[in-house]
Amino acid sequence: MGLKDQVAIVTGASSGIGEGVASELSAAGMKLVVTARRADALEALARDLGACIAVPGDIADPALPQKLVDTALLRFGRCDVVFNNAGVMHTATIEEADIETLCAMVRVNFEAVVRVAYTALRHFKKDGSGHLINVSSILGTKVRDTAGVYCGTKFAVEAMSQALRIELAKTNIRVSVIEPGLIATHLQDHFKVHPRDFLGVKAMVAPAEVARCVRFILEQPAHVRIPVMMVMPGEQPM
Ligand code: NDP
Repeated sequence: MGLKDQVAIVTGASSGIGEGVASELSAAGMKLVVTARRADALEALARDLGACIAVPGDIADPALPQKLVDTALLRFGRCDVVFNNAGVMHTATIEEADIETLCAMVRVNFEAVVRVAYTALRHFKKDGSGHLINVSSILGTKVRDTAGVYCGTKFAVEAMSQALRIELAKTNIRVSVIEPGLIATHLQDHFKVHPRDFLGVKAMVAPAEVARCVRFILEQPAHVRIPVMMVMPGEQPM
């Protein structure tokens, strides 16, 4: 079965990479369940795309992952792909870090990613197939100062994804990780000096360009696995 008429859940779909992926998968003929906290943005996206249900919510709510799968099954009768993408980035020096903000990031970037992954995989196991794509980062294998906790959440996503891929190797369930470099989204808007400036990157990668990579991963035949894909601007010196 090609992507047409398959059903995908996209988390963090109200902006950036998630919004780009939702648009690309919709263009490929997929039906979608999208989620994020900003209901207005989500509902506007769902209206634009058609065959797209908006389920607003906080991804750190433990009940949300099952609600997303249940919505896909109820409204579209199936759930084939989960794009596990919602995330935040907080960086700070030891002196300036707010511990509560860092721990809230851990809950969104790792605990919620775990809950979405296991909920999706239990459904895929019942169905016998499915594709989970977890969003890590170029900082899922490398660190930089002030970003230790963010990197830690992404290293954890990498470790979990590798273990799940091994566990599911003999099944029709695929687990992939995408590692974006500097992408033109709102993730880093809070930086006093934007990373594109201190890294000297003039042409950041657009969310739509990441989305094409995601579609490529999904369009491979069942026996072809892409466990990890890194996508970054040519100028990014990492
Ligand atoms: P954006 O800030 O544009 O998008 C983040 C998305 O996550 C939004 O839709 C936001 O929706 C959602 N989100 C954040 N917190 C929550 C929450 N508590 N509950 C529900 N949804 C939430 O950034 P990106 O598109 O760049 O980020 C997407 C992923 O890509 C993240 O995991 C990020 O770590 C990763 N990444 C991005 C890179 C980049 O350069 N942009 C580089 C490497 C990785 P809302 O606010 O409406 O809830």
